[in-house]
Amino acid sequence: MAVAEPLTAMLDSAPETEPWPYIPELLEQPVPRFTSYPPATHFQDGVGDEQYRSALEAIAPGTPISLYLHIPYCNKICYYCGCNTGAANRKTRLDAYLGALEKEIELVGGILGGRAKVKHIAFGGGSPNAIEPVQFVRLVDRLSTIFSAANPEISVELDPRNFSLEWALALSACNVRRVSLGVQTFAPHVQRAIGRIQPFAMIEECVASLKMRGISTINFDLMYGLPQQSLADLEETVETAIGLHPSRAALFGYAHLPDMIPRQRKIDSSLLPDTRLRFEQAQAGFRLFTAAGYEAVGFDHFALPEDALNIAHKNGHMRRNFQGFTDDDCNILLGFGASAISQFPGLIVQNEKHAARYRSLASAGKPAAAKCIEKPEQSRRIGAIIERLLCDHQAVLPAIFRSRLSAAPLNKLIRQRLVSWDGKRLAIPDHGRHYSRQIAAALTELLKDAPTGDDRTLLPG
Ligand code: SF4
Repeated sequence: MAVAEPLTAMLDSAPETEPWPYIPELLEQPVPRFTSYPPATHFQDGVGDEQYRSALEAIAPGTPISLYLHIPYCNKICYYCGCNTGAANRKTRLDAYLGALEKEIELVGGILGGRAKVKHIAFGGGSPNAIEPVQFVRLVDRLSTIFSAANPEISVELDPRNFSLEWALALSACNVRRVSLGVQTFAPHVQRAIGRIQPFAMIEECVASLKMRGISTINFDLMYGLPQQSLADLEETVETAIGLHPSRAALFGYAHLPDMIPRQRKIDSSLLPDTRLRFEQAQAGFRLFTAAGYEAVGFDHFALPEDALNIAHKNGHMRRNFQGFTDDDCNILLGFGASAISQFPGLIVQNEKHAARYRSLASAGKPAAAKCIEKPEQSRRIGAIIERLLCDHQAVLPAIFRSRLSAAPLNKLIRQRLVSWDGKRLAIPDHGRHYSRQIAAALTELLKDAPTGDDRTLLPG
C-alpha cells in the first residue's frame, strides 16, 4: 500500500479546541468495546476450569484482588438491553441462583485459602436490586467471611424502579460507597419507546435517599441514539442529570442489534436517530457536561474533579475492564455468577452464560467456567497499549511495533488528524476522542500479526 510521506511529518497535534470532525463511515463501522484484549469473541468454548484453578492457585499471599458478582435478573426488562439478564418473576429461581452463587464463592474461596486481599467488590447485572435487600446483606457477609476482605470498596448497580428505603438501609449497613443508577433518559416519550418508565421524581428520590445515608458517589448511566430521541431530548436529559449533581456519568450510544438481541425487536428501527443526529447528541453531551465542570474521562465518561475516576485518570492510573472505565487498579478480578468474567494478567475466564446451566453446575459444587483465553506475552503487550490509549489518550509503542504504523487504516486516521504519531507515541487529541474505539480497532488490526521480537526490542524507548 502506498505511503505518501513519512508519518513523522504529520506530527503537529491539532489545537485542543477543534470541533469534532464528522466522519460517517467511521461512526458506522462496528467496533469492539475494548473491555478486554483479546475481545470476548475470541474466547475458546468448553475450556477454563483447569486454567482458572491454576491461576487461582498461583495467586501470591497478600495480592490485591477485586470481586465481581453478577445478578442476571431484572424486575422489568427494557427493550434496548444487551445485558445477560432475564425476568426476576419467580422467587424460587432467584433463591436457587443465590444458593448457587454462594457455592461458587465457597469453591473459589476454598482454593484461595484467604491468600489474596479483596480491595473492591462490584455488584452488577442485570439488576443487583432485583434480589431482596436482606439477601444482598447476606451475600456481602458471605464474601467478607470467606475472603480476606477488610473494608473493601463496594459498588452496586441499581435499577431506580426497584429501589426502596430498605435498599438504602441495606447499602448503608454494608458500607457501600458507590452506586450506579440506570437513568438512560428523562424524556417520557423516549422512556416509553425503550420500555423503561421512570419519572424524574423517582430518580430524584432515589438520589436523595442514597445521599441521606452517606452514599454520595453516584454514577448515572445515560444513553444517546435512542428511539424518538431528539437533540433537544438529549440536551434536556443531560441538563436534568447535571441538576441532580451525580459525581460521574457515562453517556453510551445505543447499539441496535435486533438479530443478535431479540428483545430489541420491540424497538422500531425507523424511529432511531441517524448517524448525524447520534453524533450531534454525543457532542452535545460532551459540551454540556464539560461546561458544567465535569472532566471528560475516557471516551464516554464524565466525572467531577474530586471523583476517584477523574483522579485516577489524571494520575494515569485509570483502567478499563469488563465493567468499563474504572479506578480499580487490581490486576486480578474474580467474577462470580452466570456469564461473569475473571481476569488475570495472562488469562481471561468466562462462566457459563445460561443462568439455569450455571445454577446446576455451581449448586453441585462444580466449577462454572465455560470458556477462556490464555494471553501470550504479545497479546498482553497489545492489550496494555490499547488500555493506555483508551484511558490516557496516548500510548508509547515498543520499537518492534513502530514500523507497522505506516499502514492503512491507521495512516488514514492520522491524516484525518484523529490521532497523531511522533515516531514513539500515539496520541488522541480531544476532538478525536469520540473515535477512540475506531483508532484502537485500526491499531489492533496492525499489531496482531507483528513479530514478537526479543524482549529488548519490545521495550518502550
Ligand atoms: S434494568 Fe438494566 S439490566 Fe435490567 S433489563 Fe433494563 S437495562 Fe437491562
